[in-house]
Amino acid sequence: MFYLSFSASAVLIFLILLTIALFSKDFFVRYQLLRVFRLYIWFILVPIPFVGIYFLVKNFTGKWRNTPRISAKTGKVMHKLSEKDDDKYLEKGQVKEEEIKSVDYDVWVSGVEGDILIQKYKRWFSKYNACPKCKYKTYHKVYDKVIVAATYTTSGKGEKFFKCENCGHSKIVVYTIPKKTKTSSTSSGSSSWSGGSSSWSSGGGSWGGGSSGGGGAGSSW
Ligand SMILES: [Zn+2]
Repeated sequence: MFYLSFSASAVLIFLILLTIALFSKDFFVRYQLLRVFRLYIWFILVPIPFVGIYFLVKNFTGKWRNTPRISAKTGKVMHKLSEKDDDKYLEKGQVKEEEIKSVDYDVWVSGVEGDILIQKYKRWFSKYNACPKCKYKTYHKVYDKVIVAATYTTSGKGEKFFKCENCGHSKIVVYTIPKKTKTSSTSSGSSSWSGGSSSWSSGGGSWGGGSSGGGGAGSSW
């Protein structure tokens, strides 16, 4: 039942976004609207009908990403540069983002000097985050290690090291590892069970099961 309503809502959202996308003349906007349906997760969550939708979206977005853009400045048709040729139009940080595959950039040119369009495609999953210093998506955790292990009587200490692959900004975070705890006994579980049983037996009392009702009352003090 949950599966059906979830699947129906997801299809409805897909159809709404698809309609909005098809009304947009901007191929980049179209791509971004349906981007979420390019995720594999839909296969796992709702295989039917998302296997079909996934391939449809892949096909559509693939075409939209490569459809020649029209320059807003000059009205000319633009063409997309190859990954190698686009580097000279990108900033150093953007080139680094492409290198580590956290962000992908498409660079479109019309042939007119200075008529350039850069479109940004972020990766859904990347170990890189925005750097607090240079803001590029090139900041990541290099390691997370235990310096002093926690015991039952003392807390421990850990250390995380973050570094930016673009500007080199780095940071060490020292954190406390809580003391180990022994697993608690199940006494609380049994008391809640007896509470449940007493409420059941009080209901049963009306059937004339006086003794069981009495027993239930007794167990709950
Ligand atoms: Zn940085």
